Amino acid sequence: MSHTGSCVCGAVTFEITTPVTETGACHCGMCRKWSGGVFLGVRVPKDGMTIHGKDNLTIYTSSEWAERAFCKSCGASVFYRVTAPGPMNGEMHVGLGTFSDASNIPLTGELYIDLKPDGYAFAGAGRHQMTEAEVIAMFAAPPPDHA
Ligand SMILES: [Zn+2]
Ligand SMILES: [Zn+2]
Repeated sequence: MSHTGSCVCGAVTFEITTPVTETGACHCGMCRKWSGGVFLGVRVPKDGMTIHGKDNLTIYTSSEWAERAFCKSCGASVFYRVTAPGPMNGEMHVGLGTFSDASNIPLTGELYIDLKPDGYAFAGAGRHQMTEAEVIAMFAAPPPDHA
C-alpha cells in the first residue's frame, strides 16, 4: 500500500512508493520551530517518493548537511532532506502530519529527548530514545543540523 499526502492547501502532493513501517519524533529546537511543534518524520529513501507540484515548494538550507522543504503557498512543513555526502544523502524525513492516512504507523523512536519541553510527553513505552549527545555521537562527523 502506498501512502499519499499533501500540504495544507494541496499545491504540493506526494506518493511514497516504498514501504512505510514507522515514524520517529524529533524534539530538537530547529524541528520544533520548523514544524510549529514536535516533528514526526517518516524516513523515505532517495527516490522513494513522487512529488507533484514541486514548483510550489521552497527549499530552505537549514545547515551544511540538510535542507527543509515547505509549501510556499500555505507554509506547511513537508520534508527534511539530508544533503551531506555519504550513505544518507538524499534521504528524506516526510512529516507524518502531511499524510492522508497516518494510521497504523507506530512511533518507534525519539531524538533529542533531553531537549523536549517538559510540558508534554508521548504516552506508552518501549521507544528508542536518544539524547543530544547520543545523536551527535551517532552522526559523528559534521555538526548536526539540529540545534
Ligand atoms: Zn500548500
Ligand atoms: Zn530535529
